[in-house]
Amino acid sequence: MSRTMFDTHAVDNQPPPLLPRDLWADDVALREAVAREAGDAFAARLSAYGRLAGDALSRLADEAHRDRPRLRTHDRFGNRIDRVEFNAAYHEVMATAISNGVACLSWHDAGPGAHVARAALSYLHYQAEPGSSCPLTMSHAAVPVLRREPALREWADKAAQPHYDGRDLPMAGKQGITLGMGMTEKQGGSDVRANTTQAALLAADGEYELTGHKWFFSAPMSDAFLVLAQAPAGLSCFLLPRWRPDGSRNALRLLRLKDKLGDWSNASSEVEFEGAWARRIGGEGRGIATILEMVMFTRLDCMLGSAGLMRMALAQAAHHARHRSAFGKRLIAQPLMRNVLADLALESEAATTFALRVAGAVDRAATDPREAAFARIATAIGKYWICKRAPGFANEAQECLGGAGYVEESGLPRLYRQAPLNSIWEGSGNIQCLDVLRALAKEPDTGEALLAELLAGSGIDADFDAVLADAQARLAQGLDETGARALVEQLALLLQAAILLRAGNPLAAAHCRSRLGGGRGATYGTLVSGIDGDAAIARIFAD
Ligand SMILES: Cc1cc2nc3c(=O)[nH]c(=O)nc-3n(C[C@H](O)[C@H](O)[C@H](O)COP(=O)(O)OP(=O)(O)OC[C@H]3O[C@@H](n4cnc5c(N)ncnc54)[C@H](O)[C@@H]3O)c2cc1C
Repeated sequence: MSRTMFDTHAVDNQPPPLLPRDLWADDVALREAVAREAGDAFAARLSAYGRLAGDALSRLADEAHRDRPRLRTHDRFGNRIDRVEFNAAYHEVMATAISNGVACLSWHDAGPGAHVARAALSYLHYQAEPGSSCPLTMSHAAVPVLRREPALREWADKAAQPHYDGRDLPMAGKQGITLGMGMTEKQGGSDVRANTTQAALLAADGEYELTGHKWFFSAPMSDAFLVLAQAPAGLSCFLLPRWRPDGSRNALRLLRLKDKLGDWSNASSEVEFEGAWARRIGGEGRGIATILEMVMFTRLDCMLGSAGLMRMALAQAAHHARHRSAFGKRLIAQPLMRNVLADLALESEAATTFALRVAGAVDRAATDPREAAFARIATAIGKYWICKRAPGFANEAQECLGGAGYVEESGLPRLYRQAPLNSIWEGSGNIQCLDVLRALAKEPDTGEALLAELLAGSGIDADFDAVLADAQARLAQGLDETGARALVEQLALLLQAAILLRAGNPLAAAHCRSRLGGGRGATYGTLVSGIDGDAAIARIFAD
């Protein structure tokens, strides 16, 4: 080969790009979990989306992420338009996701396994383009709430359509719509009872005018939003559309977009309602109970998203280690790197398995009260634990790539910036732990379902049995807020173990020894000898 005057060296010992890859075919833990949770009927659709997510969607994501959304409060003539402009790639991502069921499969193709399949789609999507997961999950989660209000049937039906229409038009002119949610105000987000936005009744059939603000209001180009506001009888839930039923623009003012740590393809705004038209959902004063049904679904997607993020970070780290050599050996052959990768693989597989188990419970909840009770409490436990694990995990995976992991084009910095978000929104960590205490104290069926799940894993592993006995003793002593994180952490690790043990998962013993039996330290890569890390590494990729 001829050399030009600028050739100084051969490029060597650099890995090929990980993508394009089939994210479904690669992911042994995901495929096994979907089969176990009875989502297999949708395997062909998941396989198709795994290929999209690992190829075209990931390329579009680069574009959507680089070119951040822009707020346009006015048009060139000075008229208020309150619009956010997105890169065309963002709209393409949304259209691809919605047409493949990421937002609506559970409702549009309802039936056994549909929630599991949608959960798997959501997990795959998050690996490619997590910013758009925000409007996708809100659109999914709002449907059951809207269905409770006969006057809003058309909204529910259109949100359940596999059709994306990003134009700023009244709902009547669209086949499919997206939905957002507005709860958080300046004076309080976790404590939504502190909301000050006022709702004044316009007509006896549930129409109101809302005046106030929301401090965080993501995906503001959604067609409508479920918002909380104070009505005469207390905090209530409303549907607030971008356009009034008479076809005029609603009084929803976008003030500015948040300059966020990550999540760049998604717009999160601050808004004011200047007498905006809205229709009440559920009874006056029942706002929190009404919107909680939506929040249960978005919290499940936080778990799935963080599990997906960890999976992508793991795949990047393991791929790099397979191809990069140092000190005469591939990184994946270096004992200490193997310990790191094995530990990450254990964490990732436990997260994926746990999140899909909860999706399975959601699937069966309508016909099985125990599964409904399990989903209720396991969502709070999993939202706390899986989301809390993601930032440290992303950092460790990043380090596996060395300096390249700190460089934007490796993809790891984007995952790292995204990682903390799921543990903050939809109820931050402490709020999830307090929710677990509330469920245990006030909804005894949730504690019973949790215990039944844990007992189903007993008698197989001595470490598991010992920690389960400890947890039972702790629960018997009573619940206190100070100890809530410690309790929920223990319950999360036990739940992950119980699910793996019952499934006969080959990593179950390693999970129990390392996470319950003191077989690891505080950082990744500290698995003690005797733990079968090779089995965990062997399951990272199917090939
Ligand atoms: C990028 C982004 C987008 C968002 N999009 C939306 C959106 O679309 N719609 C929406 O409604 N909200 C949205 N949020 C807001 C988010 O849900 C809130 O920020 C979150 O619920 C926390 O509320 P807060 O910020 O008011 O914090 P606070 O409620 O003030 O909480 C601060 C801290 O105190 C802790 N805490 C609160 N109460 C207790 C207690 N009793 N005991 C112990 N600890 C406690 C919390 O866990 C938290 O760690 C978004 C947030 C972000 C970052």
